[in-house]
Amino acid sequence: HNSAHRIHSGQVVLDLQGAIKELVENSLDAGATTIDVRFKNQGLDSIEVLDNGSGIAEEDWPSIGLKHHTSKLPSLADLPHVTTFGFRGEALSSLCALCESITIVTSTKQTEPMGAVIHLGRDGKVIDSEGRIARPRGTTVTLNGLFVPLPVRRKEFERTIKREFPKALTMLQAYALVPAATVTKPGVRLKVETVASKGKRNVMLATDGRGSLRSSVISVWGPKALEGVLDLDLELQVSVDPVMARREGLDVQSQSVKVSGLISSASWGQGRSSTDRQFFYINQRPCDLKQVGRAINEVYKSYNTHQVPLAVLDFQLPPESIDINVSPDKRTIFLHSEANFIAALQLPFRETQTSPDV
Ligand code: ADP
Ligand code: MG
Repeated sequence: HNSAHRIHSGQVVLDLQGAIKELVENSLDAGATTIDVRFKNQGLDSIEVLDNGSGIAEEDWPSIGLKHHTSKLPSLADLPHVTTFGFRGEALSSLCALCESITIVTSTKQTEPMGAVIHLGRDGKVIDSEGRIARPRGTTVTLNGLFVPLPVRRKEFERTIKREFPKALTMLQAYALVPAATVTKPGVRLKVETVASKGKRNVMLATDGRGSLRSSVISVWGPKALEGVLDLDLELQVSVDPVMARREGLDVQSQSVKVSGLISSASWGQGRSSTDRQFFYINQRPCDLKQVGRAINEVYKSYNTHQVPLAVLDFQLPPESIDINVSPDKRTIFLHSEANFIAALQLPFRETQTSPDV
């Protein structure tokens, strides 16, 4: 069917977490292997994301902040197969309207070791791009005064920063933990720092980017987090809902879904009651899979009351079986045949009586 109606238009950036997510995803889309995130005054003053990606070519500068200008999606026909995080060209245009100011420093293979300093206006247009400074290849995007143009929203932001900031950190953990064993690209070195108003720096999170998921887990939660944790590498056969298959033009009865990552053994006695160590991904894209999390936790509870596993799991699905456009922040992903998927996922855990070692 026609893909056009799948493009969901709406407010992209609702909070601090959403703003940073868009910047980090742009860095990943640009092929960055090193990403530094800096919060000044917990993000109230500024948020800066530095990467060593491709940089932005001069011909693209005028469209960076314009709505629906993207350098990523060649045509609508490609939509079901989109592999970049961004493809709508909405994030930076939204952010321009939501910030006091945005500064971009960018350098490409052609221009390094010099970078251009670009100031964007509220309307997303380039105010000034004359400045030149030393900058290795890559891009730095600085958001100053998030929500300042919306005084009521800004007040709320200041009032809730104690909750907003940890939420943003959790979201960054998800990016630090993308299961790398199956990633075609090597792991990303992600560093998150806070800079206090007096200039004092504090490293909140730093992964080495060596690509091992276990080493990333150690970086995020420390070595103890790996106790009782197993490598998971499964291939599930999920039967496809026939009505769905017809609607989507799929000529298959079942699809294979690869599950890989880390999960606590069910026999491990010291699990947690909170789901703060559960991250799920579809095709390496962090997403909220509440039903899937619940399904896994349900099986674990049957082994051990009040215990949920550490779980960092990537589900590799054929692009046709997901809709990534359901929510504007792209974190909620609609799985076709979700019930069948969950049933298939629970099966290997149920079959092994004492632990889900597969
Ligand atoms: P989208 O990601 O959907 O294309 P955005 O509004 O997030 O839209 O970004 C607009 C454009 O700005 C991108 O298409 C890309 O060309 C450029 N861009 C933004 N951030 C970066 C970055 N860190 N590195 C390289 N290019 C970037
Ligand atoms: Mg983007």
